[in-house]
Amino acid sequence: MTTPDPAERPPAETLVVGAGIAGLVLARELVLQGRQVRVLEASDRAGGQVASVELDGLRLDAGAEAFATRGGTVREYLERLGLADRIIAPRDAPAWLHAAEGQTVPLPAVSLLGIPAAPLADDVVAVVGRRGAWRGLLDALLPGPVGSRLPTVGALVRRRMGDAILEKLVAPVVEGIHSTHPDDLPVTAVPGLVHNLLRENSLGRAVARMRIDAPAGSLVASLEGGMATLVDALLAELDRFGVPVEYGVRVAEVHADHVVLASERDDAEPEVRHGHVVVAAPGLVDPADGSSAVQTATHLALLVLAPDPALAAAPRGTGVLVARGTSVVARALTHVTAKWATVRAAADGREVVRLSYERPPSLEQARLDAEALLGVSIPSDRVLAGEVVTWLRAARIAVTDDGIPIVGEQVAGTGLAAVIAHARATAERLGAPDDADSPTKESTP
Ligand SMILES: Cc1cc2nc3c(=O)[nH]c(=O)nc-3n(C[C@H](O)[C@H](O)[C@H](O)COP(=O)(O)OP(=O)(O)OC[C@H]3O[C@@H](n4cnc5c(N)ncnc54)[C@H](O)[C@@H]3O)c2cc1C
Repeated sequence: MTTPDPAERPPAETLVVGAGIAGLVLARELVLQGRQVRVLEASDRAGGQVASVELDGLRLDAGAEAFATRGGTVREYLERLGLADRIIAPRDAPAWLHAAEGQTVPLPAVSLLGIPAAPLADDVVAVVGRRGAWRGLLDALLPGPVGSRLPTVGALVRRRMGDAILEKLVAPVVEGIHSTHPDDLPVTAVPGLVHNLLRENSLGRAVARMRIDAPAGSLVASLEGGMATLVDALLAELDRFGVPVEYGVRVAEVHADHVVLASERDDAEPEVRHGHVVVAAPGLVDPADGSSAVQTATHLALLVLAPDPALAAAPRGTGVLVARGTSVVARALTHVTAKWATVRAAADGREVVRLSYERPPSLEQARLDAEALLGVSIPSDRVLAGEVVTWLRAARIAVTDDGIPIVGEQVAGTGLAAVIAHARATAERLGAPDDADSPTKESTP
């Protein structure tokens, strides 16, 4: 009997658990390396938190609506997928803040995540008051290293610029963008912030420098037709390469070389599938620090409104972030038709707004919040269609090196830029020559 040459062995099948963006990107990269790949997805559709709904005949993003342009990684990836000519920029208008005192004001012109470049600027004083603004100025007098080793954005801003700037300005912006308080946002989630603080010896000047490097309006971009068209493109790619995506297959347990599927019936024998396993779904791996793999819920309300000249004038630019302690329940509002010209064209005069919530809202609550935030009367009969969508989002976890590679926001951090870059880097590591036939030997990133 002859022993087969290892070089000629067909690559073992790789099971990718989860068909969110992380799983789809990873599957594509692995198949490009010549592996046999199979994707197992619990729900009846791919894309996870990148999804669309149809409302009043409009296809609208119901999850992620944009990607961060920082570093150019997503753009470069979209170019590879042949989507370069579909990339669109948002309207270059300021976002607004519904401040703690209830007034709605433009966000400071030169700021990053609400951190102001110039604490004494009029648009900062309008939100945090004169006393809070003067405390912020202390930042310019402190030596650069002060606060630079603090672990979170909240701790850093509080140390250098004080409580008022943190709670009244930075917290609503961070909560609107990252769905978390700045005290829970690692400084590493804002690449370059500490580096520029040390270079400029001031947080305000660091922000000014970072805004020069990334002028307003260029921080995010999207795709014509919506971010969900990225899922269509990735599925078309997997189809082209013959990668099966199996829907309605919920994985209950993961092991390095097999998965156990959740049984549909309690008395049924659980099905086991063999192959190298890569996890791209939350909740399947226990965090190394013993904490539970928490998922938090985010709720979105989407409203399509009848044409109205007052709304067409985009009274609050592209949208409004909401400070805590006001009568408005929503955490943020995006005026979708003001932000994206392609949606505006498709809506043909109708207006689209989307509001985010910590608890599921009624559509009536969403209408009232939209009125308060946009400063425009929106009678009930002007609401043409509405839908509330609930998302479960994985908290970030620490993982041990137990041999099972993991991708996705639970390890990469929130956002398409982080998730796509991490999935590609993971695939590259799995494809490194030493591991070519043994992805399970890889350590978890
Ligand atoms: C409302 C909202 C707005 C957002 N806006 C933006 C934005 O504008 N820009 C941006 O960059 N990011 C945004 N994000 C975040 C971004 O969408 C996510 O970070 C990213 O899509 C996460 O991708 P993922 O593949 O890691 O996870 P997910 O999208 O959660 O995918 C995980 C997949 O695994 C499947 N799965 C789960 N459990 C199992 C199991 N046991 N077995 C098999 N399959 C399983 C799920 O069904 C899902 O398909 C937003 C998120 C939400 C909810």
